[in-house]
Amino acid sequence: MTIPELYELFIHNPKVTTDSRNCPRGSIFFALKGDKFDGNQYAEKALASGCIYAVIDNPDYFIGERTILVDNVLTTLQQLAHRHRKVIGCPIIGITGTNGKTTTKELLASVLSTKYNLLYTEGNLNNHIGVPLTLLRLTHDHEMAVIEMGASHPGDIKELVDIAQPNYGIITNVGRAHLEGFGSFEGVIKTKGELYDYMRRTKGKIFINQDNQYLTDIAKGIEQVTYGSDETAFAWGCVVSSNPYLTFEWKQQGKIHTVETHLIGSYNLDNVLAAVAVGRFFKIPAERISRAIAAYEPTNNRSQLKKTENNELIIDAYNANPSSMKVALDNFSTMSVSPKALILGDMRELGPTSDELHTEVITRIKEGNYDKVFLCGEHFQKAAGKDFTTYATTEELIEALRKNPLKGYHVLIKGSHGMALERVVEVL
Ligand code: ATP
Ligand code: MG
Repeated sequence: MTIPELYELFIHNPKVTTDSRNCPRGSIFFALKGDKFDGNQYAEKALASGCIYAVIDNPDYFIGERTILVDNVLTTLQQLAHRHRKVIGCPIIGITGTNGKTTTKELLASVLSTKYNLLYTEGNLNNHIGVPLTLLRLTHDHEMAVIEMGASHPGDIKELVDIAQPNYGIITNVGRAHLEGFGSFEGVIKTKGELYDYMRRTKGKIFINQDNQYLTDIAKGIEQVTYGSDETAFAWGCVVSSNPYLTFEWKQQGKIHTVETHLIGSYNLDNVLAAVAVGRFFKIPAERISRAIAAYEPTNNRSQLKKTENNELIIDAYNANPSSMKVALDNFSTMSVSPKALILGDMRELGPTSDELHTEVITRIKEGNYDKVFLCGEHFQKAAGKDFTTYATTEELIEALRKNPLKGYHVLIKGSHGMALERVVEVL
């Protein structure tokens, strides 16, 4: 079946699923493959569970006219999403960057939803599957969309922007993450820069943090809406305090707006200023922008504050890489609270530079003023030597904390997603 033919079916059945356990009535099932599964095997079950069609790419699973055989299910999904995006011509803001994509996306959503019927990426569905699935949720009622785009290899962002065709772009920042896939920091910049390349080519606009020279260096020749700490920026703002929640101020036509956020750390200033810039650009009244930013609370262990019976926790276990680890430690070390405990887990996917980057964190810990330090994972074990107590796994750490509980501490918990450090919360 051709893409135009499949699109006709989609127009009449505009719901899509890739999970045979979740088949809304009348939806189209796309039989994607993963490392450990082959969606083709579930096509029959999807049809029995409510799907009207199943798109497959293995003829062995063809079971009649409700199965649609294509060459490749994934590329079909992407092409369908691309076609749909072209039909629904609303402005799209694409967001990529090393850190803060989801936070920025949600802040933008909070601000823009005060005025527009907005579609935005759900959770962290930011890859070659999540982006098309998000685009296929667009309807003629949507006035705008905010799409998060993640990358772990060169070419990833190019692929996503070619599908989503954003009219506006934001790179939140560039830092050292996924070095295994990118090869080097230059590889990171080049890949994130694929968003700018697209905006340059299509004469789109970018919202850019003008304090970030890595970004300004690669933004030449693109129409820019700036934000940052200098008053020359279109959206200017500065930190008032961050102990632990960020309070910041920004200015519009000489009037200062002070906003108390639910975001931890001064590093979130960049994220909130992106939201101010976008809000102002799309003509949202200042008070509404401030209120929407103040109201936003992060979820999913992304820098969340939690008071337990025994301790006060900053749970930042959602992910970690050298740049987000640095800002989290810098922020925690300057907080005027005591006593302080650090619980850190490995930063994964860093390739050959991993040892060096974990050693940098060890040096930073020594420079900070922490009362207790718990390090978890094979990379930290290697880098810490005999200087700190280390644990091979999160389970070992949990056992140790169960035997010797922490009481009365302010605790920062941060590590890569795969370490699942949020599990230590139960013993804190
Ligand atoms: P992912 O790559 O997993 O999608 P993301 O880019 O969407 O991550 P968020 O989920 O918004 O990032 O934030 C994850 C963590 O990154 C936060 O908990 C915080 O530690 C850190 N972080 C957020 N914003 C920034 C920033 N502007 N600079 C540095 N670190 C940040
Ligand atoms: Mg994200």
